[in-house]
Amino acid sequence: MNKLLGFFKSIQLKFIIIYILLLLIAIQVIGAYFARQLETQLLENFTESINDRVQLLNYNLEQSLSAERDEDDPDLEQDVRSIIYDFDSDDITEIQVIDSNSRVLGTTSQFDQDNIGNRTTELRIQRALSAGNREENVVYNPQNGHRTLVISTPVYHIETDDIMGALYLEASMEGVYSQLQDINRIFANGTALAITVSALLGILVARTITKPITEMRKQAKYMATGDFSKKVNIYGEDEIGQLAVSFNELNDQLQLAQATTEGERRKLSSVLSNMNDGVIATDEYGDIILMNEPASKLIGKHYIEVQGQPLLDVLGLHSHVNSLEEINEIDRIIIDFSEGDEQLLLKANFSVIQDDNDEMNGFLTVLSDVTEEEKIERERREFVANVSHELRTPLTTMRSYLEALTDGNTWQDETIAPKFLNVVQNESERMIRLVNDLLQLSKMDNKDYRLEKSRVEYIDYIDQVIDRFSLNLKDELMLTRSLPQDVCYVWMDQDKLTQVLDNIISNAIKYSPEGGEINVTVVKNRHQILTKVSDEGVGIPEENLEKIFERFYRVDKARTRQLGGTGLGLAIAKELIEAHDGKIWAESREGKGTTISFSLPLMRKKRGHQS
Ligand code: ADP
Repeated sequence: MNKLLGFFKSIQLKFIIIYILLLLIAIQVIGAYFARQLETQLLENFTESINDRVQLLNYNLEQSLSAERDEDDPDLEQDVRSIIYDFDSDDITEIQVIDSNSRVLGTTSQFDQDNIGNRTTELRIQRALSAGNREENVVYNPQNGHRTLVISTPVYHIETDDIMGALYLEASMEGVYSQLQDINRIFANGTALAITVSALLGILVARTITKPITEMRKQAKYMATGDFSKKVNIYGEDEIGQLAVSFNELNDQLQLAQATTEGERRKLSSVLSNMNDGVIATDEYGDIILMNEPASKLIGKHYIEVQGQPLLDVLGLHSHVNSLEEINEIDRIIIDFSEGDEQLLLKANFSVIQDDNDEMNGFLTVLSDVTEEEKIERERREFVANVSHELRTPLTTMRSYLEALTDGNTWQDETIAPKFLNVVQNESERMIRLVNDLLQLSKMDNKDYRLEKSRVEYIDYIDQVIDRFSLNLKDELMLTRSLPQDVCYVWMDQDKLTQVLDNIISNAIKYSPEGGEINVTVVKNRHQILTKVSDEGVGIPEENLEKIFERFYRVDKARTRQLGGTGLGLAIAKELIEAHDGKIWAESREGKGTTISFSLPLMRKKRGHQS
């Protein structure tokens, strides 16, 4: 059905129609001219032949009528009859001869035989007899559509030129018209045949012309779908052939261009997907037109979800900029993509994409995860602020006490001066401790230290440390231990671990109430040894448990400072335990007590060292 519809719209049909129309017009013009000429010619010939016969008849009648005889001489009628019957033929339907008195002398018509001897009233004959008019008319009979040539002519006396009578002749022209009809019919048949043959030829010719065009149209369709593998056939060197050659060249060029674009696209896409940074490209209106996988991971949305969406909405930039134009001026923005506890800070760098005419036609945004960097930066700032604060407090105290001493004669006061000097000494010792702790941390941060590790029998070692504390312990506190009856070897830096234990046990002592018990437990596991220091002190709120290992963190700032703490002890302990491939953590119930535990890897038992 579609094919048929296509044919009706095709150039092929137009060709055929034009071809046939031209042919029809040509045949019509030729036919009309030919028919007209033929008709004229045939009618002329007919009239001429009739006229020739009329002339001859007239001559014979003149001879007969001019002969000396009586008007009633029966020979005359006889004579006339024999003359007219001689001239009777198929095309002549009637010949009538009338004498000067309008009496019919003879007729060839079967129906008018009775009129012989009667006077005729025919006007043409009357005019021929009276005025000597020769008339020649074509009479059309509307009843049967026949045409008849009617000739009336006077017959003169051969000597006197008197009108002796008249000759009336009717000749049917139907023979001529039926001959013309036959010729027209033959012509019409010929025309139909010519049109049929030329229509067939037209189809062939149109096919020849339109075939390459149809092929090119098909090829164009293939090209539109990106298939450049086919070629159009070249049927000649005419304009259509040249068009086909150009078409094939165009196909090749397009294929090349497509391959280049595809190659570039692949390169770009592989570069984009292998980048660590996220890349988002927008059109000139700021709507997203491209996004790589890392960007999709960073913002937590698939490209399909954000395609065509405004960049400002997707990145939530409305709090930073009011319009797209402002991005132009901003070099980078830190965007907070944190959700709940999960912190995520993204750094977005913007640049404008310009075309060859320096017209802006989009934006390129490069996203990178700067959560860690920002955290380190924040910690660094906090650390500097903390150090300054921690140093300023003892320095301020020292300054005010020294000012008080130098003010007047207080330094000479034997009761106040030693107290004030004691405070100054305590504060300076605290500062020294703080600076020492800071130096140690700084060394650890810079990996500028070495652990002097050796094989230590751990249970014995712990025993000694606890003994040392027990000696100096206040009476109201109890220090108990539960150690395994075993021998455990740990590869460790004894001094550094002593520092850790000192800090943990002294914290337990510091925060224990009067009468409190401090217990040191050592548990030996398969691959590691666990040390727990528990007290019955104030405890640490649940939410701060993790934070006590951070630098300068104190649960109760005023109280701990009073107790002489720097807030760095557990931070150093954590670093040292981790340097021994161990772990440190805290458990506590507020008001009930705290347990600080750490684990250390055990040395593999060697033969010979086994107990
Ligand atoms: P400090 O020198 O101030 O004691 P630490 O790093 O040793 O610093 O301890 C950090 C903080 O942890 C302390 O300020 C204190 O608030 C809390 N803390 C540590 N050990 C205990 C404990 N056994 N009981 C209660 N709080 C403790």
